[in-house]
Amino acid sequence: DKSKRQDGTWSRSDFIWDPDNDRYLCPEGKELKRTRQYHKDPRNKQPRTGRRKYRASKMVCSICPAKDKCCPKVDARSVTRERFEEVREFARQCTASEFNPKAQARRKKVEMLFAHLKRILGLGRLRLRGPCGVQDEFTLAATAQNLRKLAKLKPLIPATG
Ligand code: SF4
Repeated sequence: DKSKRQDGTWSRSDFIWDPDNDRYLCPEGKELKRTRQYHKDPRNKQPRTGRRKYRASKMVCSICPAKDKCCPKVDARSVTRERFEEVREFARQCTASEFNPKAQARRKKVEMLFAHLKRILGLGRLRLRGPCGVQDEFTLAATAQNLRKLAKLKPLIPATG
């Protein structure tokens, strides 16, 4: 995700998405539209899929007091919107959540188990064929892995005698 700008100017997240009117609103309250009536561009007739670009009016941006903070190098600001932006937005929220570091640690733990199955228990290649064979072999390997973990949990009993 490269939507966050590094040069101090406003990023896409500073613009408010207005789904009912298919437009963005900039921090100054002006609209960024996908098409404008006076653009007779045939590409605008394409179905609403893929990446879309929303542009502010050049006239409005040229007299905006916040232009330096928004689009200092171009005449008017534009913001792109991907096809599944809602999903991307949800993923961004998940990444920014407090739970994310914990989830990452858990993911790592699970992936380590698969790596162990593959490298140490030799499950990089299965010997049995067919869905049932694969299930049997995998279940057996996972059982062995769990037993190994259980054995490690057991406190060491000092040898007597
Ligand atoms: S420069 Fe244009 S898009 Fe940016 S804040 Fe001003 S009016 Fe809005």
